[in-house]
Amino acid sequence: MSDYKDNEEYGFATRAVRAGQVRTHENEHSEAIFPTSSYVFGSAAEAAARFSGEQPGNIYSRFTNPTVRTFEQRLAALEGAERCVATASGMSAILATFIGLLSAGDHIVSSRSIFGTTTILLTNFMAKLGIATTFVDLPDLNAWEAAIKPETKLLFLETPSNPLVELVDIAALAEIAHRKNCLLVVDNCLLTPALQRPLELGADIVIHSATKYIDGQGRCMGGAVCGTQAVVGEGVYGFLRSAGPSLSPFNAWVFLKGLETLQLRMKAHSENAQALAEWLEQQPAVKRVYYPGLASHPQHELARKQQSGFGGIVSFELNGGKDEGWRLVDATRMISITANLGDTKTTITHPGTTTHGRLTPEQKQEAGISDGLIRIAVGLEDIEDIKADLARGM
Ligand SMILES: *Cc1c(COP(=O)(O)O)cnc(C)c1O
Repeated sequence: MSDYKDNEEYGFATRAVRAGQVRTHENEHSEAIFPTSSYVFGSAAEAAARFSGEQPGNIYSRFTNPTVRTFEQRLAALEGAERCVATASGMSAILATFIGLLSAGDHIVSSRSIFGTTTILLTNFMAKLGIATTFVDLPDLNAWEAAIKPETKLLFLETPSNPLVELVDIAALAEIAHRKNCLLVVDNCLLTPALQRPLELGADIVIHSATKYIDGQGRCMGGAVCGTQAVVGEGVYGFLRSAGPSLSPFNAWVFLKGLETLQLRMKAHSENAQALAEWLEQQPAVKRVYYPGLASHPQHELARKQQSGFGGIVSFELNGGKDEGWRLVDATRMISITANLGDTKTTITHPGTTTHGRLTPEQKQEAGISDGLIRIAVGLEDIEDIKADLARGM
């Protein structure tokens, strides 16, 4: 008889394996998948009670599905959140947060070094709805504070950033945000709760692209928003219910199985990335290596303080420019040329012409995306094979 109850007494690894599971009458050991769009009610009165919210339970899978709920509860247990709302993608998690919590006339302060598509969402679409954004340098606490206006409602960031793995002191920024009555929203995609828990450091909301390390094997699209019941459970969930960027039960199942091995995988990604970063620093073709686990990283001490590992993203600048960058990418035989990250398979990207290719030259320069920059999302292959593959094009 299984007696696991979701509570704080269990350690991280235990919650990753067991939180949120509800067994059916079949007593399955692994979590069940519920591919159903709707549910039947016992009576007209029960249907009415469910729809009015008087009685909790399943209504329609756009906003209630048992497999999705298990994933939400497991991720909430790992982030230390009261509530998690799953979405169809990382971008829809970000969109649901902005639209669910903000109104026309509100203002956002965002890190400049965010996922390229998030920049487009803010500048091309949120702006159109009357929600303006001011961009600041991620590590610069004074710049964050100076950019906050009376109508600022939300601060948004990723730490470490991608691809340059810059950090911000989350606890210090949370103090500024709360003094100014703003919500601090952290996209925790690159480290996952296995290596960093922003809510424990004072952030109000954590966002995920589950497509990356939570899946961990490059199969499914999905996202999530974690926070309090009052903020995420009302505003963000309310938008999801009415607008419908919902996570499919199958993808939720893949993600919740992914969470079971998340800590082991993140540790292995970090070990390979550390070894690769140290090797890259020795290569004559390399001008500079960006990895928070290196003593040469300007925020190495902060990374040690607020993270429990350094993650799988390593970037480096070649002495050359775009031609040398493309030559290195094209010389690889094993590493995958793809912009995805968070996969067991190592991937290589030239950010200037892919993930950040839609930014203007000025935006690229501000974001520090030079022509000789290469990003590696370090996978779980043998580290010697990863090094050998990169050595071919240097
Ligand atoms: C990929 C990514 C997103 C967007 O997630 P999708 O699942 O692709 O929609 C958002 N933030 C970060 C940091 C990402 O890497």
